[in-house]
Amino acid sequence: MHFVVLGAGAHGLSLAYHLLKEGEKVTVVEKGEVSHGSSGRNAGRYRYHFFSRENVEFAKEAIPYLLSMCKKLPLNPVCMKTGYLWTETEGVRKLDPMWRAEGVGGKFVECSEFPFMKGGEGEECYYAPQDGSFHHDYISLGLYLEIKRMGGEFVRGEAKELVKRQGKVVGVKVEDHVVGGDAVAVTLGAWTGEFMRRNGIDVPITPEKRELFLTEGVKFRVKPLVIGRGFYFSQTLKGELIGGIDSPESSLTLDTSLVNSLSFISHVRKVVKGLEGVRLLRSWSGYYEITPDRSHVMGFDPSWPENLFVDAGYSGHGMMFSLYAGKVISDFMLGRRNKFVEIFSPSRFQRHVTVDERMVI
Ligand SMILES: Cc1cc2nc3c(=O)[nH]c(=O)nc-3n(C[C@H](O)[C@H](O)[C@H](O)COP(=O)(O)OP(=O)(O)OC[C@H]3O[C@@H](n4cnc5c(N)ncnc54)[C@H](O)[C@@H]3O)c2cc1C
Repeated sequence: MHFVVLGAGAHGLSLAYHLLKEGEKVTVVEKGEVSHGSSGRNAGRYRYHFFSRENVEFAKEAIPYLLSMCKKLPLNPVCMKTGYLWTETEGVRKLDPMWRAEGVGGKFVECSEFPFMKGGEGEECYYAPQDGSFHHDYISLGLYLEIKRMGGEFVRGEAKELVKRQGKVVGVKVEDHVVGGDAVAVTLGAWTGEFMRRNGIDVPITPEKRELFLTEGVKFRVKPLVIGRGFYFSQTLKGELIGGIDSPESSLTLDTSLVNSLSFISHVRKVVKGLEGVRLLRSWSGYYEITPDRSHVMGFDPSWPENLFVDAGYSGHGMMFSLYAGKVISDFMLGRRNKFVEIFSPSRFQRHVTVDERMVI
């Protein structure tokens, strides 16, 4: 069969890779460069720790799969177990019993056990050692190289309109020509809701702007990702501190704000020892792709035209899930069932059986 995949972010690339591995023909349509969207703009962190049991269970499949693929892809994404450290324990205390029952429990520790922390004496932190980091670009570029090697085709242009015949999707209009196929998968990240709406289908995914900040390098000492009240950061192997702050942003322009940059630096300086002279090196922004329950959408709805699938709406935690999601949705498109396609179905919003996810970092 010939599959048309819309969007060359990590989800589209992963789906294309898995379909090609099954011997199918694939054309990927991308309006910009490979990884032009959020897949080229994220913090490259993975975790098992979510608010909803369903997302923890998804992560329990997705993270080991990510780590196994890190060894298989042609470029090394430097996947590392670094842990996550929460400096506010009220929220995680309620979730810890569920995480333990799922086999991914962390531990309550004194913050001062982490020598990089300022103060921390007598203060309680929560450390989850299972979580970690990877380099997102090497995942996307590794997938791209594999797709090219297996004969996948890339078409540059904006996908505008689904082409239908007798209630079935048979292709997509890209600029002024049609890319035909037996089925179309929409993996357009934050642009998915808008594209589907333009085609008369409601998939509730909206873009939400988020900024990332990067400091100059300092001596490596912050191994875990640190999550405080309204901010998070970690340290790269080069020594830079990378992270973001909660900043209510209604604008969708992809510039960054000086006020938020200064706020990030000041948050990090308050937590980490010896950062007084450290300056900001870079900042950039991208979109979280937010659904009403902040869980992703995979599969199709029976009211849609036949042969149309979606995999999107990862609400800020989609890079870590992309490799496994591509496998799940490729299996599904080839007629194999998977419990996650039921749980994360786009039909859940009408059925009011949602997956409430509050741990969007
Ligand atoms: C600041 C920030 C930090 C993040 N940190 C993390 C993290 O630490 N860990 C994690 O797992 N996730 C993180 N994420 C989330 C993660 O980056 C996304 O969930 C993930 O990359 C989504 O991948 P995608 O393939 O669905 O979408 P995208 O990567 O956005 O890909 C969609 C593609 O579709 C293309 N496109 C759009 N419209 C059209 C059209 N009409 N025709 C053709 N092409 C089109 C775009 O150009 C883009 O390349 C972060 C996101 C941001 C913004």
